[in-house]
Amino acid sequence: MQITEIYKSLQGESTYAGLPCVFVRLTGCNLRCSWCDSEYTFQGGHKMSNDEVREEISRLSPNLGLVEITGGEPMLQERDLVPLMHALLEDQYTVLLETSGERPLHRVPPEVIKIVDVKCPDSGEGDTFHVENLETLGDRDEMKFVVSSRADYEFARDFSRRHDLATRVHAVLLSPAFRKDASGQRNSSHCLLDPRELAEWIIADDVPARLGLQLHKFIWDPALKGV
Ligand code: SF4
Repeated sequence: MQITEIYKSLQGESTYAGLPCVFVRLTGCNLRCSWCDSEYTFQGGHKMSNDEVREEISRLSPNLGLVEITGGEPMLQERDLVPLMHALLEDQYTVLLETSGERPLHRVPPEVIKIVDVKCPDSGEGDTFHVENLETLGDRDEMKFVVSSRADYEFARDFSRRHDLATRVHAVLLSPAFRKDASGQRNSSHCLLDPRELAEWIIADDVPARLGLQLHKFIWDPALKGV
């Protein structure tokens, strides 16, 4: 498996935000979102066996807890990743998988909590989510929309309503996109869309979704990697 980094930090997104978490960041992505803050995962990395990944997770988090598999797009390495997820579940970790939903998700073990990041139009990668993947989602999974404009918000709102996401998954998250070159100040001035504006739209339309902020970008310098 090609790995960019494994590190421990606080979970910054989803309903698990604020909890300690080990991140396993896989190398490679088949999308090119305009605001991507993980371009350093597109190439490079180093090979690790599943046993080596498990050993590193165990070193970082010997008392179990949360592990997030992320990228890049982790499902590009499905052949090695599925056995790793089974092994981590056997080890008694709570496993989160962050994915765009562009790859089939039916081989993901049902005990893994999927955080599916459906791409909105202004990401430049709209229409990449495979709608058949909705059938794989259950009441522990979460769907996220990173929003950078009113058009993105309306896409997320209408998609959520059309597919009745609020009853299908545990949480629907709407998150303002962050400027990818953000650094220095730790505040919402780096957001491509003012969180207050997004909050007011959610309230006005009574959308059954929660506003998500990338917590780690308000704790550490937004340019810092490995946090
Ligand atoms: S899917 Fe994720 S890693 Fe890939 S380009 Fe988009 S934001 Fe970046």
